[in-house]
Amino acid sequence: MNEKPRILVVDDDTALLQALPQALYIRMQDVDVDTSDSALEALDLLQKNDYDAIVSDIKMPGMDGLALLAKVQELRPETPTLLITGHGEHDLAVQALRGGAYDFIQKPIDRDYFVAALRRAIHTRQLRRQVYEQQLALKLHAGSLEGLVQRRTRELVEANAVKDKFLSIVSHELKMPLENLKGMTQMLQRQIETSTAPDLIHRGLADMERSLDRTEVLVQDLLDTSLIETNMFTLHRKRCDLVELCRQLLDEYTAGAGPDLSFDYLGKPIEVEVDSDRICQVLINLFTNARKYSPKGSPITVTLQQSGYEATISIRDMGVGMPEEVIPYIFDQFYRAPSVEVQNGSRLGLGLGLYISRKIVERHGGRIEVISSPGKGSVFSIILPIHVDPQAENVEGIATLTPHTQAIWTMVR
Ligand code: ADP
Repeated sequence: MNEKPRILVVDDDTALLQALPQALYIRMQDVDVDTSDSALEALDLLQKNDYDAIVSDIKMPGMDGLALLAKVQELRPETPTLLITGHGEHDLAVQALRGGAYDFIQKPIDRDYFVAALRRAIHTRQLRRQVYEQQLALKLHAGSLEGLVQRRTRELVEANAVKDKFLSIVSHELKMPLENLKGMTQMLQRQIETSTAPDLIHRGLADMERSLDRTEVLVQDLLDTSLIETNMFTLHRKRCDLVELCRQLLDEYTAGAGPDLSFDYLGKPIEVEVDSDRICQVLINLFTNARKYSPKGSPITVTLQQSGYEATISIRDMGVGMPEEVIPYIFDQFYRAPSVEVQNGSRLGLGLGLYISRKIVERHGGRIEVISSPGKGSVFSIILPIHVDPQAENVEGIATLTPHTQAIWTMVR
Protein backbone atom coordinates (compact mmCIF):
# COMPACT_ATOMS: atom_id res chain seq x y z
CA MET A 1 0.00 0.00 0.00
CA ASN A 2 2.76 2.42 0.97
CA GLU A 3 5.08 1.47 -1.86
CA LYS A 4 6.51 4.23 -4.03
CA PRO A 5 4.15 5.10 -6.91
CA ARG A 6 5.38 3.84 -10.24
CA ILE A 7 4.67 5.52 -13.52
CA LEU A 8 5.36 4.88 -17.19
CA VAL A 9 6.30 7.62 -19.66
CA VAL A 10 5.95 6.81 -23.37
CA ASP A 11 7.33 9.09 -26.09
CA ASP A 12 9.19 8.58 -29.35
CA ASP A 13 10.98 11.90 -28.78
CA THR A 14 14.02 10.68 -26.85
CA ALA A 15 14.91 14.19 -25.67
CA LEU A 16 11.53 14.53 -23.98
CA LEU A 17 11.78 10.95 -22.71
CA GLN A 18 14.84 12.02 -20.76
CA ALA A 19 13.63 15.47 -19.76
CA LEU A 20 10.26 14.40 -18.32
CA PRO A 21 11.61 11.93 -15.71
CA GLN A 22 14.20 14.56 -14.73
CA ALA A 23 11.47 17.11 -14.16
CA LEU A 24 9.55 14.54 -12.13
CA TYR A 25 12.48 13.51 -9.94
CA ILE A 26 13.11 17.16 -9.04
CA ARG A 27 9.49 17.77 -8.03
CA MET A 28 8.45 14.30 -6.77
CA GLN A 29 11.23 12.41 -5.00
CA ASP A 30 8.94 9.57 -4.03
CA VAL A 31 8.23 8.16 -7.48
CA ASP A 32 9.70 5.49 -9.77
CA VAL A 33 9.63 6.26 -13.47
CA ASP A 34 9.91 3.74 -16.33
CA THR A 35 10.29 4.99 -19.88
CA SER A 36 9.51 3.58 -23.27
CA ASP A 37 10.04 5.07 -26.76
CA SER A 38 7.26 3.07 -28.40
CA ALA A 39 3.71 2.06 -27.66
CA LEU A 40 4.50 -1.59 -28.40
CA GLU A 41 7.27 -1.74 -25.83
CA ALA A 42 4.99 0.13 -23.40
CA LEU A 43 2.39 -2.61 -23.83
CA ASP A 44 5.01 -5.15 -22.93
CA LEU A 45 5.87 -3.26 -19.74
CA LEU A 46 2.17 -2.87 -18.95
CA GLN A 47 1.69 -6.63 -18.95
CA LYS A 48 4.43 -6.99 -16.34
CA ASN A 49 3.79 -3.97 -14.10
CA ASP A 50 0.78 -2.46 -12.42
CA TYR A 51 1.55 1.26 -12.94
CA ASP A 52 -0.04 4.00 -10.90
CA ALA A 53 -0.26 6.23 -13.99
CA ILE A 54 0.79 6.30 -17.64
CA VAL A 55 1.88 9.37 -19.58
CA SER A 56 2.04 9.04 -23.35
CA ASP A 57 2.48 11.26 -26.34
CA ILE A 58 -0.49 11.05 -28.69
CA LYS A 59 1.43 11.28 -31.94
CA MET A 60 3.90 8.45 -32.36
CA PRO A 61 4.88 6.40 -35.41
CA GLY A 62 3.28 2.94 -35.58
CA MET A 63 0.89 2.55 -32.74
CA ASP A 64 -0.15 6.03 -31.54
CA GLY A 65 -1.18 7.28 -28.08
CA LEU A 66 -4.92 6.81 -28.71
CA ALA A 67 -4.43 3.18 -29.70
CA LEU A 68 -2.24 2.66 -26.65
CA LEU A 69 -4.96 4.27 -24.50
CA ALA A 70 -7.51 1.78 -25.89
CA LYS A 71 -5.17 -1.08 -24.99
CA VAL A 72 -4.62 0.29 -21.46
CA GLN A 73 -8.40 0.47 -20.99
CA GLU A 74 -8.56 -3.17 -21.95
CA LEU A 75 -5.58 -4.47 -19.96
CA ARG A 76 -5.51 -2.14 -16.96
CA PRO A 77 -8.84 -0.27 -16.81
CA GLU A 78 -8.00 1.08 -13.35
CA THR A 79 -4.78 2.78 -14.47
CA PRO A 80 -5.20 6.49 -15.35
CA THR A 81 -3.62 7.59 -18.62
CA LEU A 82 -2.49 11.14 -19.41
CA LEU A 83 -1.99 12.01 -23.08
CA ILE A 84 0.36 14.71 -24.40
CA THR A 85 -1.10 16.70 -27.28
CA GLY A 86 0.44 19.30 -29.55
CA HIS A 87 -0.38 22.96 -28.99
CA GLY A 88 -3.92 23.79 -30.17
CA GLU A 89 -4.79 20.18 -31.04
CA HIS A 90 -8.17 20.50 -29.43
CA ASP A 91 -9.79 17.76 -31.51
CA LEU A 92 -7.17 15.27 -30.38
CA ALA A 93 -7.56 16.35 -26.77
CA VAL A 94 -11.34 15.81 -26.96
CA GLN A 95 -10.76 12.45 -28.63
CA ALA A 96 -8.36 11.50 -25.85
CA LEU A 97 -10.88 12.35 -23.12
CA ARG A 98 -13.67 10.53 -24.97
CA GLY A 99 -11.38 7.53 -25.28
CA GLY A 100 -11.09 7.43 -21.49
CA ALA A 101 -7.92 9.46 -20.86
CA TYR A 102 -7.64 10.78 -17.32
CA ASP A 103 -6.29 14.16 -18.51
CA PHE A 104 -4.35 15.72 -21.38
CA ILE A 105 -1.24 17.85 -21.30
CA GLN A 106 -0.48 20.38 -23.99
CA LYS A 107 2.93 21.02 -25.51
CA PRO A 108 4.97 22.94 -24.62
CA ILE A 109 4.70 21.15 -21.33
CA ASP A 110 4.21 23.30 -18.27
CA ARG A 111 6.22 21.27 -15.74
CA ASP A 112 4.18 22.35 -12.72
CA TYR A 113 0.87 21.59 -14.41
CA PHE A 114 2.27 18.25 -15.57
CA VAL A 115 3.37 17.26 -12.06
CA ALA A 116 0.08 18.40 -10.49
CA ALA A 117 -1.94 16.39 -13.06
CA LEU A 118 0.22 13.35 -12.45
CA ARG A 119 -0.16 13.61 -8.68
CA ARG A 120 -3.94 13.69 -9.10
CA ALA A 121 -3.80 10.66 -11.37
CA ILE A 122 -1.61 8.71 -8.90
CA HIS A 123 -3.94 9.67 -6.05
CA THR A 124 -6.98 8.51 -8.04
CA ARG A 125 -5.27 5.20 -8.83
CA GLN A 126 -4.43 4.66 -5.17
CA LEU A 127 -7.99 5.45 -4.10
CA ARG A 128 -9.32 3.01 -6.70
CA ARG A 129 -6.93 0.38 -5.38
CA GLN A 130 -8.09 1.01 -1.81
CA VAL A 131 -11.76 0.73 -2.82
CA TYR A 132 -10.98 -2.49 -4.64
CA GLU A 133 -9.12 -3.93 -1.65
CA GLN A 134 -11.94 -2.92 0.70
CA GLN A 135 -14.51 -4.47 -1.62
CA LEU A 136 -12.46 -7.62 -1.67
CA ALA A 137 -12.18 -7.65 2.13
CA LEU A 138 -15.93 -7.06 2.44
CA LYS A 139 -16.64 -9.86 0.00
CA LEU A 140 -14.39 -12.21 1.97
CA HIS A 141 -16.01 -11.14 5.21
CA ALA A 142 -19.52 -11.61 3.78
CA GLY A 143 -18.45 -15.03 2.54
CA SER A 144 -17.14 -16.06 5.94
CA LEU A 145 -20.28 -14.67 7.65
CA GLU A 146 -22.46 -16.64 5.28
CA GLY A 147 -20.47 -19.75 6.10
CA LEU A 148 -20.85 -19.05 9.80
CA VAL A 149 -24.62 -18.56 9.49
CA GLN A 150 -24.90 -21.81 7.56
CA ARG A 151 -22.81 -23.66 10.14
CA ARG A 152 -24.81 -22.22 13.06
CA THR A 153 -28.12 -22.99 11.33
CA ARG A 154 -27.00 -26.57 10.78
CA GLU A 155 -25.97 -26.84 14.43
CA LEU A 156 -29.33 -25.39 15.51
CA VAL A 157 -31.28 -27.80 13.35
CA GLU A 158 -29.22 -30.69 14.73
CA ALA A 159 -29.65 -29.49 18.32
CA ASN A 160 -33.38 -29.10 17.72
CA ALA A 161 -33.64 -32.60 16.33
CA VAL A 162 -31.82 -33.94 19.40
CA LYS A 163 -34.17 -31.96 21.67
CA ASP A 164 -37.28 -33.24 19.84
CA LYS A 165 -36.02 -36.80 20.03
CA PHE A 166 -35.27 -36.37 23.72
CA LEU A 167 -38.73 -34.89 24.33
CA SER A 168 -40.37 -37.76 22.51
CA ILE A 169 -38.38 -40.44 24.39
CA VAL A 170 -38.83 -38.86 27.83
CA SER A 171 -42.55 -38.29 27.41
CA HIS A 172 -43.16 -41.79 26.04
CA GLU A 173 -41.10 -43.34 28.83
CA LEU A 174 -42.94 -41.35 31.50
CA LYS A 175 -46.39 -42.08 30.12
CA MET A 176 -46.37 -45.81 30.91
CA PRO A 177 -45.32 -45.78 34.59
CA LEU A 178 -47.66 -42.83 35.14
CA GLU A 179 -50.62 -44.73 33.77
CA ASN A 180 -49.69 -47.71 35.95
CA LEU A 181 -49.42 -45.56 39.05
CA LYS A 182 -52.73 -43.91 38.30
CA GLY A 183 -54.45 -47.25 37.77
CA MET A 184 -53.02 -48.58 41.02
CA THR A 185 -54.06 -45.48 43.00
CA GLN A 186 -57.59 -45.73 41.65
CA MET A 187 -57.72 -49.45 42.47
CA LEU A 188 -56.52 -48.79 46.04
CA GLN A 189 -59.09 -46.05 46.40
CA ARG A 190 -61.88 -48.40 45.33
CA GLN A 191 -60.58 -51.05 47.75
CA ILE A 192 -60.55 -48.79 50.79
CA GLU A 193 -63.87 -47.13 49.97
CA THR A 194 -65.56 -50.19 51.42
CA SER A 195 -63.15 -50.52 54.34
CA THR A 196 -62.77 -48.31 57.37
CA ALA A 197 -59.31 -47.08 56.47
CA PRO A 198 -58.07 -44.04 58.40
CA ASP A 199 -58.89 -40.62 56.93
CA LEU A 200 -55.20 -40.00 56.39
CA ILE A 201 -55.05 -42.76 53.80
CA HIS A 202 -58.09 -41.39 51.96
CA ARG A 203 -56.54 -37.95 51.83
CA GLY A 204 -53.15 -39.31 50.89
CA LEU A 205 -54.58 -41.21 47.97
CA ALA A 206 -56.60 -38.21 46.79
CA ASP A 207 -53.43 -36.07 46.90
CA MET A 208 -51.51 -38.71 44.99
CA GLU A 209 -54.17 -38.75 42.32
CA ARG A 210 -54.11 -34.97 41.94
CA SER A 211 -50.32 -35.00 41.59
CA LEU A 212 -50.55 -37.76 39.05
CA ASP A 213 -53.18 -35.81 37.07
CA ARG A 214 -50.91 -32.81 37.02
CA THR A 215 -47.91 -34.86 35.92
CA GLU A 216 -50.06 -36.47 33.26
CA VAL A 217 -50.91 -33.05 31.81
CA LEU A 218 -47.23 -32.08 31.77
CA VAL A 219 -46.24 -35.31 30.03
CA GLN A 220 -49.06 -34.92 27.52
CA ASP A 221 -47.91 -31.34 26.81
CA LEU A 222 -44.35 -32.56 26.20
CA LEU A 223 -45.61 -35.30 23.93
CA ASP A 224 -47.79 -32.89 21.94
CA THR A 225 -44.89 -30.44 21.61
CA SER A 226 -42.68 -33.21 20.30
CA LEU A 227 -45.40 -34.25 17.81
CA ILE A 228 -45.83 -30.65 16.63
CA GLU A 229 -42.08 -30.07 16.30
CA THR A 230 -41.52 -33.25 14.33
CA ASN A 231 -44.56 -32.63 12.11
CA MET A 232 -46.24 -35.80 13.33
CA PHE A 233 -49.25 -33.99 14.74
CA THR A 234 -52.41 -35.14 12.97
CA LEU A 235 -56.02 -34.11 13.37
CA HIS A 236 -59.02 -36.44 13.23
CA ARG A 237 -61.68 -34.08 12.00
CA LYS A 238 -65.39 -34.77 12.10
CA ARG A 239 -68.38 -32.58 11.47
CA CYS A 240 -70.11 -31.46 14.65
CA ASP A 241 -72.07 -28.69 16.30
CA LEU A 242 -69.81 -26.29 18.17
CA VAL A 243 -72.60 -25.15 20.53
CA GLU A 244 -73.21 -28.75 21.62
CA LEU A 245 -69.47 -29.45 21.89
CA CYS A 246 -69.01 -26.49 24.27
CA ARG A 247 -72.14 -27.36 26.24
CA GLN A 248 -71.00 -30.95 26.85
CA LEU A 249 -67.47 -29.92 27.70
CA LEU A 250 -68.60 -27.25 30.16
CA ASP A 251 -70.95 -29.76 31.81
CA GLU A 252 -68.08 -32.22 32.26
CA TYR A 253 -65.61 -29.52 33.30
CA THR A 254 -67.90 -28.17 36.01
CA ALA A 255 -69.17 -31.57 37.22
CA GLY A 256 -68.30 -32.80 40.72
CA ALA A 257 -65.96 -30.46 42.55
CA GLY A 258 -65.70 -28.07 39.57
CA PRO A 259 -67.01 -24.51 39.43
CA ASP A 260 -70.75 -23.70 39.25
CA LEU A 261 -72.08 -23.31 35.76
CA SER A 262 -74.98 -21.30 34.50
CA PHE A 263 -76.01 -20.64 30.95
CA ASP A 264 -77.60 -17.42 30.01
CA TYR A 265 -78.48 -18.15 26.45
CA LEU A 266 -78.36 -21.12 24.08
CA GLY A 267 -78.95 -20.52 20.38
CA LYS A 268 -78.87 -22.37 17.09
CA PRO A 269 -76.18 -24.94 16.15
CA ILE A 270 -72.93 -23.86 14.46
CA GLU A 271 -71.57 -26.55 12.20
CA VAL A 272 -67.79 -27.03 12.16
CA GLU A 273 -65.43 -29.78 10.99
CA VAL A 274 -62.94 -30.25 13.82
CA ASP A 275 -60.98 -32.74 15.89
CA SER A 276 -63.27 -32.38 18.88
CA ASP A 277 -60.76 -33.92 21.36
CA ARG A 278 -58.14 -31.37 20.31
CA ILE A 279 -60.56 -28.41 20.43
CA CYS A 280 -61.67 -29.57 23.91
CA GLN A 281 -57.99 -29.72 24.92
CA VAL A 282 -57.59 -26.06 23.84
CA LEU A 283 -60.75 -24.99 25.68
CA ILE A 284 -59.79 -26.83 28.88
CA ASN A 285 -56.40 -25.16 28.75
CA LEU A 286 -58.02 -21.73 28.39
CA PHE A 287 -60.58 -22.46 31.16
CA THR A 288 -57.79 -23.66 33.45
CA ASN A 289 -55.67 -20.57 32.75
CA ALA A 290 -58.68 -18.28 33.31
CA ARG A 291 -59.19 -19.88 36.72
CA LYS A 292 -55.49 -20.04 37.51
CA TYR A 293 -55.00 -16.32 36.89
CA SER A 294 -58.25 -15.00 38.53
CA PRO A 295 -59.28 -14.63 42.15
CA LYS A 296 -61.64 -17.16 43.65
CA GLY A 297 -65.28 -16.26 43.12
CA SER A 298 -64.77 -14.11 40.02
CA PRO A 299 -66.84 -15.17 37.01
CA ILE A 300 -65.50 -16.68 33.81
CA THR A 301 -67.73 -16.12 30.80
CA VAL A 302 -67.72 -18.30 27.71
CA THR A 303 -69.39 -16.79 24.64
CA LEU A 304 -70.01 -18.41 21.30
CA GLN A 305 -70.57 -16.16 18.30
CA GLN A 306 -70.93 -16.55 14.58
CA SER A 307 -69.92 -13.94 12.07
CA GLY A 308 -69.89 -14.76 8.37
CA TYR A 309 -67.80 -17.87 7.82
CA GLU A 310 -66.24 -17.71 11.29
CA ALA A 311 -67.22 -18.99 14.70
CA THR A 312 -65.63 -17.38 17.78
CA ILE A 313 -65.41 -18.89 21.25
CA SER A 314 -64.36 -16.23 23.78
CA ILE A 315 -63.24 -16.97 27.33
CA ARG A 316 -63.33 -13.86 29.50
CA ASP A 317 -61.86 -13.69 33.00
CA MET A 318 -61.61 -10.83 35.50
CA GLY A 319 -58.17 -11.88 36.72
CA VAL A 320 -54.65 -10.47 36.85
CA GLY A 321 -54.45 -9.85 33.10
CA MET A 322 -51.15 -9.00 31.47
CA PRO A 323 -49.37 -6.04 29.85
CA GLU A 324 -49.99 -5.64 26.15
CA GLU A 325 -46.29 -6.00 25.31
CA VAL A 326 -46.04 -9.58 26.61
CA ILE A 327 -49.03 -10.83 24.57
CA PRO A 328 -46.96 -11.66 21.45
CA TYR A 329 -44.74 -13.91 23.59
CA ILE A 330 -47.28 -15.93 25.57
CA PHE A 331 -47.67 -18.39 22.67
CA ASP A 332 -43.93 -19.15 22.58
CA GLN A 333 -42.66 -22.53 23.73
CA PHE A 334 -41.88 -22.54 27.48
CA TYR A 335 -43.01 -18.91 27.95
CA ARG A 336 -43.85 -18.07 31.56
CA ALA A 337 -44.30 -14.50 32.72
CA PRO A 338 -41.61 -13.95 35.40
CA SER A 339 -43.84 -11.95 37.73
CA VAL A 340 -47.30 -13.39 37.11
CA GLU A 341 -49.45 -14.00 40.17
CA VAL A 342 -51.05 -17.39 40.21
CA GLN A 343 -54.38 -17.62 42.04
CA ASN A 344 -56.31 -20.45 43.69
CA GLY A 345 -53.21 -22.29 44.84
CA SER A 346 -52.55 -23.40 41.23
CA ARG A 347 -49.05 -24.03 40.02
CA LEU A 348 -47.29 -22.59 37.01
CA GLY A 349 -47.09 -25.05 34.12
CA LEU A 350 -44.27 -25.59 31.69
CA GLY A 351 -45.47 -22.70 29.57
CA LEU A 352 -46.48 -25.05 26.78
CA GLY A 353 -50.28 -24.83 27.06
CA LEU A 354 -50.82 -21.77 24.87
CA TYR A 355 -48.12 -22.85 22.42
CA ILE A 356 -49.92 -26.16 21.82
CA SER A 357 -53.34 -24.45 21.80
CA ARG A 358 -52.29 -22.02 19.12
CA LYS A 359 -50.82 -24.80 16.97
CA ILE A 360 -54.02 -26.85 17.27
CA VAL A 361 -56.24 -23.91 16.32
CA GLU A 362 -53.96 -22.95 13.42
CA ARG A 363 -54.03 -26.52 12.11
CA HIS A 364 -57.81 -26.09 11.93
CA GLY A 365 -57.31 -22.99 9.78
CA GLY A 366 -58.17 -20.71 12.68
CA ARG A 367 -56.41 -18.33 15.06
CA ILE A 368 -56.33 -17.23 18.70
CA GLU A 369 -56.68 -13.56 19.64
CA VAL A 370 -56.06 -12.02 23.07
CA ILE A 371 -57.19 -8.80 24.70
CA SER A 372 -55.79 -8.19 28.15
CA SER A 373 -54.64 -5.50 30.53
CA PRO A 374 -53.09 -5.74 33.99
CA GLY A 375 -55.69 -6.00 36.76
CA LYS A 376 -58.58 -5.91 34.32
CA GLY A 377 -58.65 -9.53 33.16
CA SER A 378 -58.24 -11.17 29.77
CA VAL A 379 -60.31 -12.35 26.83
CA PHE A 380 -58.93 -15.27 24.82
CA SER A 381 -60.84 -15.80 21.54
CA ILE A 382 -60.59 -18.91 19.40
CA ILE A 383 -61.68 -18.19 15.86
CA LEU A 384 -62.53 -21.22 13.72
CA PRO A 385 -63.83 -21.48 10.16
CA ILE A 386 -67.36 -22.87 10.06
CA HIS A 387 -68.28 -25.78 7.84
CA VAL A 388 -69.90 -24.73 4.58
CA ASP A 389 -71.74 -27.31 2.55
CA PRO A 390 -70.96 -26.47 -1.09
CA GLN A 391 -74.29 -28.08 -2.12
CA ALA A 392 -76.26 -25.81 0.18
CA GLU A 393 -78.46 -23.24 -1.52
CA ASN A 394 -77.72 -20.38 0.80
CA VAL A 395 -73.89 -20.39 0.72
CA GLU A 396 -73.56 -16.68 -0.10
CA GLY A 397 -76.06 -15.78 2.56
CA ILE A 398 -73.80 -17.05 5.36
CA ALA A 399 -70.99 -14.62 4.54
CA THR A 400 -73.27 -11.66 4.87
CA LEU A 401 -74.66 -12.76 8.24
CA THR A 402 -74.11 -10.06 10.79
CA PRO A 403 -72.24 -11.17 13.96
CA HIS A 404 -74.62 -12.80 16.37
CA THR A 405 -74.26 -14.61 19.67
CA GLN A 406 -75.20 -18.26 19.76
CA ALA A 407 -74.50 -19.13 23.39
CA ILE A 408 -73.27 -17.67 26.69
CA TRP A 409 -72.21 -19.57 29.81
CA THR A 410 -70.81 -18.34 33.11
CA MET A 411 -68.64 -20.30 35.54
CA VAL A 412 -68.19 -19.16 39.11
CA ARG A 413 -66.54 -20.71 42.11
P1 ADP B 1 -48.62 -21.95 31.89
O1 ADP B 1 -48.65 -23.42 31.95
O2 ADP B 1 -47.37 -21.33 32.43
O3 ADP B 1 -49.89 -21.30 32.35
P2 ADP B 1 -49.46 -21.22 29.22
O4 ADP B 1 -48.79 -21.45 27.90
O5 ADP B 1 -50.81 -21.80 29.39
O6 ADP B 1 -48.46 -21.72 30.32
O7 ADP B 1 -49.51 -19.66 29.47
C1 ADP B 1 -48.36 -18.87 29.25
C2 ADP B 1 -48.38 -17.60 30.08
O8 ADP B 1 -49.44 -16.74 29.63
C3 ADP B 1 -48.66 -17.82 31.55
O9 ADP B 1 -47.48 -18.13 32.24
C4 ADP B 1 -49.26 -16.49 31.97
O10 ADP B 1 -48.24 -15.57 32.22
C5 ADP B 1 -49.98 -15.99 30.72
N1 ADP B 1 -51.44 -16.26 30.78
C6 ADP B 1 -52.12 -17.24 30.16
N2 ADP B 1 -53.45 -17.14 30.39
C7 ADP B 1 -53.62 -16.07 31.17
C8 ADP B 1 -54.77 -15.44 31.75
N3 ADP B 1 -56.02 -15.91 31.57
N4 ADP B 1 -54.57 -14.33 32.51
C9 ADP B 1 -53.31 -13.84 32.69
N5 ADP B 1 -52.20 -14.38 32.18
C10 ADP B 1 -52.34 -15.48 31.42
